[in-house]
Amino acid sequence: MSILERAVQEIADEMRKRTDRGQVASYIPELARVDPNAFGLAVIDAEGNVAAAGDADTPFSIQSISKVFTLTLALGKAGDRLWKRVGREPSGSAFNSIVQLEHEKGIPRNPFINAGAIAVTDLILSGHQPREALGEILRFMQFVADDYSIAIDDKVAASEERTGYRNVALANYMKSFGVLDNPVNFTLGVYYHHCAISMSCRQLAMAGRFLSRAGRNPTTGHVVIPAERARRINAVMLMCGHYDGSGEFAYRVGLPGKSGVGGGILAVAPGKASIAVWSPGLDPAGNSRLGQLALEMLTKRLGWSIFA
Ligand code: GLU
Repeated sequence: MSILERAVQEIADEMRKRTDRGQVASYIPELARVDPNAFGLAVIDAEGNVAAAGDADTPFSIQSISKVFTLTLALGKAGDRLWKRVGREPSGSAFNSIVQLEHEKGIPRNPFINAGAIAVTDLILSGHQPREALGEILRFMQFVADDYSIAIDDKVAASEERTGYRNVALANYMKSFGVLDNPVNFTLGVYYHHCAISMSCRQLAMAGRFLSRAGRNPTTGHVVIPAERARRINAVMLMCGHYDGSGEFAYRVGLPGKSGVGGGILAVAPGKASIAVWSPGLDPAGNSRLGQLALEMLTKRLGWSIFA
């Protein structure tokens, strides 16, 4: 067993025993049905070695982690023009907060809070039918993960669509400032569906490899995005990837990362590894409680914090 495999296995074993698991998200009814005892961890190092433990092959709803991939796509389409419709500062507010939008005239703080991600989705949608835009997002995910079995969980998307009152409010509010170009229901339809992509830790760690490898897909050697862009996406993940818990995540884990209310976290150790962890119980900021703890233990053990 390698040092990495041993670390991953021991952390997963330790997490299995914990009882302080946080609360499973319930505002999307379909997510409330997930087993709170699940825990998965997968790490892919720079040589392509995979270490996985626990429920690393069980698909879960990636939710806001999809926003890393929509940001990547939108930057590919619009380049720096994207930053006219969304900022890149930490928000210090909840993921679905509406107050900041009023102060900032409909321009969301960053691409990872809900409002910002909806604005990013709207940019990807422009010039396309919702089905085409969604197909593009899913295909991109499959391509970077090198796995064409990745799919959308329509039940989760429908569940969120039925209860997404806050997102409807955020989108309409932005539309009133001219920040969204497409009909609000089209943009939200694409947004809910990309949040409802289901992936396992192993698939997610595969998908994150290009961010840990200066923009390259190690399977093909192809440049997915320029190294400079990968660096910048990692910077936004570090500052904004955990809602108003981003400072805490940087302090404890010391890596760029993005969480989702499904309990997943994708973390990037630049030049070293792509890491995905999943435990559905969340802390009050909406971040996986054991996911953060597992990453804290892993980075400490392997010396992977970007702050050395
Ligand atoms: N689809 C979820 C929402 O819009 C994503 C939330 C999240 O994972 O932060 O509420």
